[in-house]
Amino acid sequence: MAAYALTKAGARVVMLEAGPKWFASHDSKMLTPAYATPHRGASIHGRPFGEFDACDGGWEIDGEPYTRAPGTQFSWWRARMLGGRTNHWGRISLRFGPDDFRGKSIDGLGDDWPISYDDVKPYYDDVDRLIGLYGSNEGLRNHPDGIFMPPPKPRCYELLVKKASDKLGITCIPARLSIITKPLNGRQACHYCGQCNRGCSVKANFSSPDVLIAPALQTGKLTLITNAMAREVTVGPNGLATGVAYIDKNTGADEHVRARVVVLSASACETARLLLNSKSSQFPNGLANSSGTVGKYLTDTTGTGVSGFIPSMVNPISHNHDGVGGMHVYMPWWLDNKKLDFPRGYHIEVYGGTGAPGAGFGGGIQRYNGGGYGKQLKADYRKYYGATIGFDGRGEMIPNENSYCELDPATVDKFGIPVLRFHWKFDDHEINQAKHMQETFRALLTEMGATIFSPMPTRDQNYNLAAGGTIIHELGGARMGNDTKTSVVNANCQAHDVKNLFVADGSPFVSQADKNPTWTILALSWRTSDYITQQRKAGAI
Ligand SMILES: Cc1cc2nc3c(=O)[nH]c(=O)nc-3n(C[C@H](O)[C@H](O)[C@H](O)COP(=O)(O)OP(=O)(O)OC[C@H]3O[C@@H](n4cnc5c(N)ncnc54)[C@H](O)[C@@H]3O)c2cc1C
Ligand code: SF4
Repeated sequence: MAAYALTKAGARVVMLEAGPKWFASHDSKMLTPAYATPHRGASIHGRPFGEFDACDGGWEIDGEPYTRAPGTQFSWWRARMLGGRTNHWGRISLRFGPDDFRGKSIDGLGDDWPISYDDVKPYYDDVDRLIGLYGSNEGLRNHPDGIFMPPPKPRCYELLVKKASDKLGITCIPARLSIITKPLNGRQACHYCGQCNRGCSVKANFSSPDVLIAPALQTGKLTLITNAMAREVTVGPNGLATGVAYIDKNTGADEHVRARVVVLSASACETARLLLNSKSSQFPNGLANSSGTVGKYLTDTTGTGVSGFIPSMVNPISHNHDGVGGMHVYMPWWLDNKKLDFPRGYHIEVYGGTGAPGAGFGGGIQRYNGGGYGKQLKADYRKYYGATIGFDGRGEMIPNENSYCELDPATVDKFGIPVLRFHWKFDDHEINQAKHMQETFRALLTEMGATIFSPMPTRDQNYNLAAGGTIIHELGGARMGNDTKTSVVNANCQAHDVKNLFVADGSPFVSQADKNPTWTILALSWRTSDYITQQRKAGAI
């Protein structure tokens, strides 16, 4: 987004990308049938979410480790390709609400942001118009409306979910996904093939290479250097950033690109790593780290899920249930948590139905019929396919002092760059929230007449709260604030210590929300880019 906004404003931009070029419009396997490969689309090395999934990378990358402090459960998903994780993300595109920027004022926990919803709203509007998303305007207080395209109709299983939600008083509305249901800026409308995680050949869903980087390249102002692994930001005698040192992965050579302004957007944790690795006599603890808070206030979204077998979905009447590769309905946070034993909230994501089957589909037929083989097994697959419905909670974690990343003093990656070591601990806030999610999802499934696949987890199991990082919404590590002693960047994502250094990913976030973060990352990145443009025009940087 920063490359898009800055080149459109007339700046010459060099983008360093650790992976190769990848454009869904050329490279996606959107319509490849599972039977076209011996693996039937199952995971392969370097594509852990499936052979056709549009992400090169994963929890582990050869020669690029990270470490965990003793007792820490944390996993870090990294993409190594142009566009990063926007190639295969879920595309749930939610605005943070007014309360999400002022959590501390409401319940005393964490910190308030130095900006409010009103500061970001114009940029959310711009992102909606430029990228496009479907949804519905509902007038909900902390779930702001947007500029939506018409949402697709609920599919059969989603109608069942809506019925159960209405019965239990849980708000259930059309989902908000950055998939266009009408043509936009030369991109075609979605044709409902349901393969969004593979990347969209017709550009109907949002991935940054086709929607942002391609137009930036068309300006003639963007120089894209791929397979370029940034090592550190370099600084001059005046304490200003002078550019970025990187390794050319094709040759192994150390290279350097000079720049008047440096914008880091390598994902929240990698940006913290780059800052910590940018050590010099002027900045012995890493760049922009006079507060000592680089790597701190790290959070992930909370998550847990439950699924079950729904007898009324067995042997369905054949009908067209085509849709997007994601939800048509979802449940935004609907309760007043002053009456609950945890702060903030969560939203509920829904899955089910009959997508194109690949390896491992159905999650294991033995869950329904105990197993089998031959003709009976085939018949059972046809009978039970599509009879599973599941719910995933995605909620807000409060930053705490035990969850952060730092440089590992003893481990370097294959380029010789020191790696991150993660520390992680959830608080009762998150664990109690997971219990509430579990109880809610079980109530919904029971309302639908389900056989639930798993027993209620216990407190000892943290109610199946997903380990840190595994929801893949890491935020923080270079948080914004007005106080230079407790934050890394100011309200415009400009480093307090280095005025020509900016951050444009999830690292400046002061808090999570009960929303997925990427729409806010995009809006803030655009806002920061506008600020850079103004400052350059004013001669201030
Ligand atoms: C399966 C999945 C589903 C998701 N679903 C949703 C969702 O529905 N809604 C939502 O809001 N969010 C979702 N997310 C999260 C979303 O993908 C991220 O919030 C978003 O991609 C973050 O953007 P980013 O640019 O900060 O980081 P990334 O997308 O990770 O991009 C970082 C880029 O920097 C490059 N890079 C990294 N290190 C270096 C280096 N040292 N030198 C040079 N280049 C480097 C990488 O190759 C990559 O291109 C999902 C994530 C995953 C994995
Ligand atoms: S479902 Fe729509 S947006 Fe997703 S890959 Fe298919 S055509 Fe593209």
